Amino acid sequence: MIPYAATADIIYKVARQLNTSLDLEEVLGKVLHLTVEATGAERGSLFLLDDEGHVTRQIQSSPHKPYKVVRRNIQEVMSHGLAGWVYRHQHGALATDVTTDERWVQLPDSTHETRSALIVPLLRQDTVNGLLSLHHSQKRFFDESHLALAAGIASQAAVAVENARLFTQIKGERESLYMLFNAMPMPVLEIDTESNIIFANQMARQSLQIKEVNIPLMAIEGGNQLNLALGKLHRRAENHIEVHWSDGRVFNVSINDVPQLGTVVALDDITHLKELDSMKSQFVQTVSHDLKNPLAIIMGFAEVLKTDLDLSETGQTCVDSILNNATQMRVLIEELLDLAEIEAGIDDTPESCNLTNIVNAVVTNYSLQTKKKKHTVVLDLPQEACLVQGSSVRLSQVVSNLVSNAVKYTPNDGKINVSLIQNDSEIWLQVADTGPGIPPAAQSQLFQKFYRVPDIHASDSYVKSTGLGLSIVKAITEDYGGRVWVTSEVGVGSTFACVLPCKSTMSTSDETD
Ligand code: ADP
Repeated sequence: MIPYAATADIIYKVARQLNTSLDLEEVLGKVLHLTVEATGAERGSLFLLDDEGHVTRQIQSSPHKPYKVVRRNIQEVMSHGLAGWVYRHQHGALATDVTTDERWVQLPDSTHETRSALIVPLLRQDTVNGLLSLHHSQKRFFDESHLALAAGIASQAAVAVENARLFTQIKGERESLYMLFNAMPMPVLEIDTESNIIFANQMARQSLQIKEVNIPLMAIEGGNQLNLALGKLHRRAENHIEVHWSDGRVFNVSINDVPQLGTVVALDDITHLKELDSMKSQFVQTVSHDLKNPLAIIMGFAEVLKTDLDLSETGQTCVDSILNNATQMRVLIEELLDLAEIEAGIDDTPESCNLTNIVNAVVTNYSLQTKKKKHTVVLDLPQEACLVQGSSVRLSQVVSNLVSNAVKYTPNDGKINVSLIQNDSEIWLQVADTGPGIPPAAQSQLFQKFYRVPDIHASDSYVKSTGLGLSIVKAITEDYGGRVWVTSEVGVGSTFACVLPCKSTMSTSDETD
């Protein structure tokens, strides 16, 4: 019989031992040794089992000797010995005299004499992940108090075995993940919550010249910009952003927060694409500029023909067609030149603009069209001025493009809702309509230049479209430090949301726009 105080003492020592090292065999070896000494057993064994109940290792211990780890096939005991019985029944067993216990199987190569034994399972969530056995050459050496103590120790050891299994599993998964990252053709970094680089794939080491890991992100060249960009991404709950490196490269940086791993950052080098885009813009800008003057001359002469000459009916139709098409070309050219200016960052001196007034004015401008199409227009604007620092012309372009699209694509009798919401630091402009809705595949391309959704046309055939309106909205919004996106469902409608940083709140009386 083991006294209660001794039991408590040994349980305490075992608990302490289990936290001393991550090496499972070492920890369990020491725990087994403690158990053998505390119970007075002559030998003790700890069998570690895999998911199928096969013995993977056996740790052996006897008093005054260090423990040892044996890897041998003792499946025989597991299939029909006392150990197997404990494994199947998931509770401990006491054999006070093994010679009369039919569950006992003597191993053929065993040189030890055993008369009494006890075995307890290492049980974790209905799974036996190991067995602890104690042996003595004297019969009836062990009693229920030994069994209870061994069960207490085994339940603690089971937690350690489970933790070690999970640790190995996570380590294995992490290594496979790192192998995958290493095969990726772009720099990938793993960054912990303290902004330290804890992993850099081969491409990151080469391309960003990272020589070692476990260093602060700020310690690498470009780390500062990257750190700022990551902060922005986290604040905005977005998952990618462009970062300009000091050597002229441009990366599209995307992040993914992975539990237990930190943040995985992928840097896609888009320098080449940016150069192509800039060349294309330059080309379009030059052509547009060169077309502007001849077009003005064509329109001027067409106006003269229309007003000063007595034209036949066919002649009138031809001149009207010339003017119509030339006007459409002028709109396209002006939008292209506008876009080029916005992208080049050419802007009037920024001023404090009241978006509430701008929205009001734009919606009023479209009242004729909305009346004609019997649209219900709901304006939801705050009482106070919503102030944005920028150009009122550019902000009007943003609102106007969104409202004109809603009017253009929403069929007769539809509903358009324009709202402004202001919080501490941002102003949200939302234009919602009950138009045709935009398919998910098209939504990601919507803000690209010249993109038009196939099969979505203005509900009035005379209204022309250039496919540039939303690119202008995006360029202006991003230039002002904001963002724009769409949520839409085919057959239900679309909502375009544009968020701009607000300047401050002031009463409508001191506003400017
Ligand atoms: P545009 O209207 O001149 O074609 P935009 O860049 O403003 O150019 O819009 C691009 C395309 O997005 C449009 O051609 C249209 O297919 C689609 N679109 C824009 N706004 C809406 C909307 N409110 N509802 C449905 N489709 C829209």
